[in-house]
Amino acid sequence: MAQAFTPMTPVPSLWAATADPLPAFPKLSGARQADVVIIGAGYTGLSAAYHLAKSGLAPVVLEANQPGWGASGRNGGVITAKFRLSFREIDAVHGRAMARRMYEIAHESVDMVEELVSEFDITSARLTRTGQVKAAHNDTTLKAAIDEAAWMSREMRDTEVRILDPHQVRDETGSSIFVGGVLNPGSGGIHPLNYLRGLAKGVAARGVPIFQESPVVSLRRDGDGVLAETPGGSVRARQAIIATNSYSDLTSATARVQRTLVPFRSALIATEKLSPNLAGSLMPTGRSYTETKRMMRWFRKVDDRVVFGGRGAFGKQDSESAFEALRKAMVGIFPELADVPLEFKWSGLVAMTLDSVPHVGRLDDRTLYSVGYNGAGVAMSSLMGRYLADLVRGESVNLGLLAARRLKTIPFYAFREPAVRAVAGWYQFLDAVER
Ligand SMILES: Cc1cc2nc3c(=O)[nH]c(=O)nc-3n(C[C@H](O)[C@H](O)[C@H](O)COP(=O)(O)OP(=O)(O)OC[C@H]3O[C@@H](n4cnc5c(N)ncnc54)[C@H](O)[C@@H]3O)c2cc1C
Repeated sequence: MAQAFTPMTPVPSLWAATADPLPAFPKLSGARQADVVIIGAGYTGLSAAYHLAKSGLAPVVLEANQPGWGASGRNGGVITAKFRLSFREIDAVHGRAMARRMYEIAHESVDMVEELVSEFDITSARLTRTGQVKAAHNDTTLKAAIDEAAWMSREMRDTEVRILDPHQVRDETGSSIFVGGVLNPGSGGIHPLNYLRGLAKGVAARGVPIFQESPVVSLRRDGDGVLAETPGGSVRARQAIIATNSYSDLTSATARVQRTLVPFRSALIATEKLSPNLAGSLMPTGRSYTETKRMMRWFRKVDDRVVFGGRGAFGKQDSESAFEALRKAMVGIFPELADVPLEFKWSGLVAMTLDSVPHVGRLDDRTLYSVGYNGAGVAMSSLMGRYLADLVRGESVNLGLLAARRLKTIPFYAFREPAVRAVAGWYQFLDAVER
């Protein structure tokens, strides 16, 4: 019996209010055949579709809501060449060769965004490589950031990273609360929903069928292939790709993947447009900024608005108190924003993994997946789409630590939400007491 599913409406974000229109795609009806059925039209699914089509295969993309409804349409648009696990930590546990391979993958991922933006001429994505500053809130965290930068320069030959003194960070941010920082010039920013919509239009223009409001409610083995069923139709394919990341619980069809992830809500606020004077004094170089706190917050300026992000509410919904906590954090850094109204507030789920790196691989001989971007997936999911296409074609790919040999279900999965609360509370405590 078909599972009930009501497609969700787009999230009212700054990006949705300023994005290029995307004509609606049809709903799947009737039975179709394809080489590969892709579940989810975010960056992972659309990049996989593009790379499969480029190699002569015939994919079909099925999206439960609208393309970009998930994290790809509502993220912060910060593009970085890194994982949640630092390269130094990877080196310490897994050795130099692995650290170097992960470093290469991270940089390839940023190049992949540039390549896709150029391939589909997505100028409205406004991709910039202006860099990112990690701003330190005390001497202990500044020292750790400087040590890390020195290690990267020495051991990974990453000589671009620059140390900033307190004056430079003040000039960079417009805030005087930071004691110094580190500039990574290779990072960038993007309009995430225009990037997504440009991908969807480009992939559709290459002849790939995309169906929206077509949730896969059942995915099963069928002869020597797979059968993906939606309430209105089905796709029989030789292989399937699960590209549902933090939204893998929308139906039970992707439950095997969902049980390997811990969802964590990330929230964003955006001010109304600032006066020209204020806009000129805050973040004049147009970079993005993160803090060194464990409960990391980040900010950037987009079209003269401050966009500020951090932890959202626990549980299934947004909450006013989480947005208010973010606003207070923003005013703590920029007191001059105290009376500036917020125009947009929204949130979404990021998918965390126990080992802090994404997982890419095969569930079985017919089903592949790539999930668990740990909140840093704009570039990485774009690249993993290409690697998934390589895996579908049977090519051998060196995925470093991302190669999930077998799916590890989160132990005590039912208790993941209280566990997330406990860890977040502990991090907030450490941030508060650290000198
Ligand atoms: C608030 C927020 C801020 C973030 N900020 C940043 C940032 O600044 N920089 C960065 O690098 N990363 C950031 N991220 C993470 C990044 O957005 C994600 O890692 C990335 O977009 C994941 O892309 P995806 O295609 O794998 O998944 P998604 O974009 O989430 O797409 C999954 C899609 O699958 C669909 N789906 C689910 N189940 C089914 C089904 N059964 N049938 C059909 N379709 C289905 C969903 O509707 C959804 O559209 C942020 C995430 C959030 C939520």
